[in-house]
Amino acid sequence: MEVSEKLTWIELDKKHFFHPSSSIKDSYEKGPVVFMERGEGIYIYDADGKEYVDGLSSLWNVNVGHGRKELAESASEQMKKLAYTHSFSRFSHKPAVQLAEKIASLAPGDLSVVHFTSGGSESNDSAFKIARHYFKLKGQSQRFKIIARDRAYHGVSMGATSATGLSIFRELGGPLAAGFIHASAPYSYRCEECKPECKGDCAIESIYDLIEQEGAETIAAIIIEPVQGAGGVIIPPPDYIKAVRKICDKFGILMIADEVITGFGRTGKWFGIEHEGVVPDMITFAKGVTSGYIPLGGVVISERIYRELVEHSNQNFAHGFTYSGHPAACAVALKNIEIITNEKLVENAAGMGILLQQGLEKIKNELDIVGNVMSRGLLGHIEIVKDKTSKEAFSSSHKVASQITEQAFEYGLITRPIMYNNTDIIAICPPLIINEQQINQLLD
Ligand code: PLP
Repeated sequence: MEVSEKLTWIELDKKHFFHPSSSIKDSYEKGPVVFMERGEGIYIYDADGKEYVDGLSSLWNVNVGHGRKELAESASEQMKKLAYTHSFSRFSHKPAVQLAEKIASLAPGDLSVVHFTSGGSESNDSAFKIARHYFKLKGQSQRFKIIARDRAYHGVSMGATSATGLSIFRELGGPLAAGFIHASAPYSYRCEECKPECKGDCAIESIYDLIEQEGAETIAAIIIEPVQGAGGVIIPPPDYIKAVRKICDKFGILMIADEVITGFGRTGKWFGIEHEGVVPDMITFAKGVTSGYIPLGGVVISERIYRELVEHSNQNFAHGFTYSGHPAACAVALKNIEIITNEKLVENAAGMGILLQQGLEKIKNELDIVGNVMSRGLLGHIEIVKDKTSKEAFSSSHKVASQITEQAFEYGLITRPIMYNNTDIIAICPPLIINEQQINQLLD
């Protein structure tokens, strides 16, 4: 792009575009960092033609990689036939039914009934409302509280923000929704309680403590990300998630797995919860279901919960979005799932994930400032520390993770800094189509 043309775009951007999740001041005063123009495979190109490895699958979502014409064509075909119809009041259409059936066939256990939304935040808000409605119908209106966890990210709508455990999202101003409480995150590397080694017992204890404090009869659901993401890619210790399931069973609490990042192959299985051998009562999904080509999300609920809802239901379930189950989005999702299946991308994520993990371990062994690395499938992180032995972090004023990702960007790699509670983490989450040579390129 010519310099003069670029300046015009920057000025227009500064004047008219209120950017999501960005510094308002920097957006207004400095303008955008980059104008992205096109994508191909794991690469994305800016308006000057510079190539970047998309090391975060953009926002953890472009699972099948960029530039998939089949996905554009599936949207185009559906739009030409019927671009939009709603599915309120028992209206229906084939793409939504086909997609619901497909997702039911992929989801674990008896998770088989799908309520569609347009993204992850809406999916989590929907799951909270379904959980609360379920207990209301069963005559337990006092069961409305939701347990989430520190470092969790569940989105930015009011319910999802209330469940999110990252203060920067919670403190924009004014009160959040009532009834959301937080247990500890199972981040063993940063645990100061369990000696000599944290196996996640303290994080489980913190859930028990909350239940005792609040009363089990007031808790509707516990929401967990099978692998945490935006608060640091935290792989829970073995058996931690089984223990959460046990707590839910013991106290009659519903278990919600937020698979907005981990769903659709990211961790080397269709759903991240499958690594744990437990079946939640609901799974929320978005991102990877369409690989980000078009907005879509949803909640898969168990047949058991659905049957109970049917049995007790006495009124309209007055909750649904205009774009719940958008026909074109459903068509894209079906094609996207077909690509993931035909190209064996879940298996590829598992195989390439092993190389990623080995590469991250090597980086940890070679570099004094890398304190910890974690990964599952193609989802991982690197934690930067000042002192490897004491795990002392750099001062937050140094913004080390930010500096490193800015430098990586200059080299042509897009990643994401996570700076929470004085920890410096760099997230890695490349498209599932990545091959061995590209994994090495990313690691180099
Ligand atoms: N849940 C998780 C685990 C996420 O990572 C995100 C987004 O990053 C969301 C929910 C919110 O999704 P959306 O941005 O589509 O509303």
